[in-house]
Amino acid sequence: MTSKEIREAFLSFFKNKSHDIVPSAPVVVKDDPTLMFTNAGMNQFKEIFLGETLPKHTRVTDTQRCLRVSGKHNDLEEVGIDTYHHTLFEMLGNWSFGDYFKKEAIAWAWELLTEVYQLDQDRLYVTIFEGDEKEGLERDSEAYDLWKSHVAEDRILLGNKKDNFWEMGETGPCGPCSEIHYDMRSDEEREAIRGQQLVNADDPQVIEIWNLVFMQFNRLKSGKLEPLPAKHVDTGMGFERLVRAIQGKTSNYDTDVFQPIIQFIAERAGITYGADEKTDIAMRVLSDHIRAVSFAIADGQLPSNNKAGYVIRRILRRAVRYAYTFLGFKTPFINELVPLLAKQFEGVFDELIQQQSFVQKVVLEEEVSFLRTLTTGIQRFENYIAEHSAIEGDFAFELFDTYGFPIDLTGLLAREKGLRVDMEGFQRALQQQKERSRAATAIDTGDWVTVSNGDETEFVGYDYLEATTQLLKYRKV
Ligand code: ATP
Ligand code: MG
Ligand code: MG
Ligand code: MG
Repeated sequence: MTSKEIREAFLSFFKNKSHDIVPSAPVVVKDDPTLMFTNAGMNQFKEIFLGETLPKHTRVTDTQRCLRVSGKHNDLEEVGIDTYHHTLFEMLGNWSFGDYFKKEAIAWAWELLTEVYQLDQDRLYVTIFEGDEKEGLERDSEAYDLWKSHVAEDRILLGNKKDNFWEMGETGPCGPCSEIHYDMRSDEEREAIRGQQLVNADDPQVIEIWNLVFMQFNRLKSGKLEPLPAKHVDTGMGFERLVRAIQGKTSNYDTDVFQPIIQFIAERAGITYGADEKTDIAMRVLSDHIRAVSFAIADGQLPSNNKAGYVIRRILRRAVRYAYTFLGFKTPFINELVPLLAKQFEGVFDELIQQQSFVQKVVLEEEVSFLRTLTTGIQRFENYIAEHSAIEGDFAFELFDTYGFPIDLTGLLAREKGLRVDMEGFQRALQQQKERSRAATAIDTGDWVTVSNGDETEFVGYDYLEATTQLLKYRKV
């Protein structure tokens, strides 16, 4: 099956079970102070779960574009290094709002995976919540008994509160969950340890593909749990991981989701994918990061120096540096991936193809601007480490302030050389800068419109190029 067919099969499977197919929400969240980016399929249904809105349909399904680069879910450091965490990924989901519950959710998940997708049953494991005495939470034996009618008992593993109990926050809806894992190790490897139970924490080839959450409690302010009057199902399956399992690959990047982009990068770099771990990682990073950056821009978040915008700028700069150092791209290149991506997502997320040239232009401008200082910045870094055994805060700040190196990029460069960064020193220098700039703003109020929204704006620093354009833009005429 191609990835396109796999996605369609998911949606039509649930459509046939009376689910309404709904569009993905944008990846950029504008009206929720607790969340910058959509990080799960359930985000757009939060009000329904909280009982604040009534659902139009009690069963829905979709593929949601998600971004996990900030807050509680931040997978950025894993991306490209491992083969199954992405910045932007699709989460396939099916929901029941007070309609069906565990029995159907479990039976359908199993039917879809083993009958429609024909995944090898011998490679599937499921987990259920083991309970937590301290918290007064019971084992989810209901789920255990239901799974028993589909899976051999030695494939049903117990999971702790961290992995198998979902909570929206300190208070609100919560409940146990059941994860489905797929074992992609070779037959020989599996034979060698037959009988041992494995989940993804134990082996990178045993990966979590689907999470079925059963919302059945409401946590009160006192910490007490009360049963929800209407129980809900919330599931999320990583599309790229599913494709990998079905296509029998050992890396998400070997599937037809990523290969067209990787091959394009490889050809332009004149380097074969698979030839060297360093260049492979760089190609994986590029093929991943461009997706996050492109959809963020298409959904309304331009790269900038604040909050969500700075998260996007950091991801892009990280990609530019990988392309520059490991793949030899000394001039803008990443923007050329945008048309390829737009075409790939046509008919799935049309937001990108509709704004393709705008998105490409923004990425190009970002590349041009960062490449202007990257060469000298890297040179400065090389010279510096020839004479130092650690990155001092002041130097990290210089890279940040003069050369536009986000601190996590400096951290990455330092890690590659086995060096530490003095983060406290960096924060101190940043703070001093902030105070200087505040003083400067106070003097300038006659000529300049205030750019900051007071305390709401998290000041992350002063990027010279960005600051110049910002000031020009906001100058009173
Ligand atoms: P993991 O333990 O692998 O980090 P998770 O438990 O954080 O995954 P969930 O919050 O349960 O993930 O999300 C539901 C599904 O989304 C997962 O089962 C997985 O298939 C997929 N998923 C989660 N994070 C990512 C990611 N960064 N990239 C790709 N797929 C992901
Ligand atoms: Mg995770
Ligand atoms: Mg997990
Ligand atoms: Mg999970």
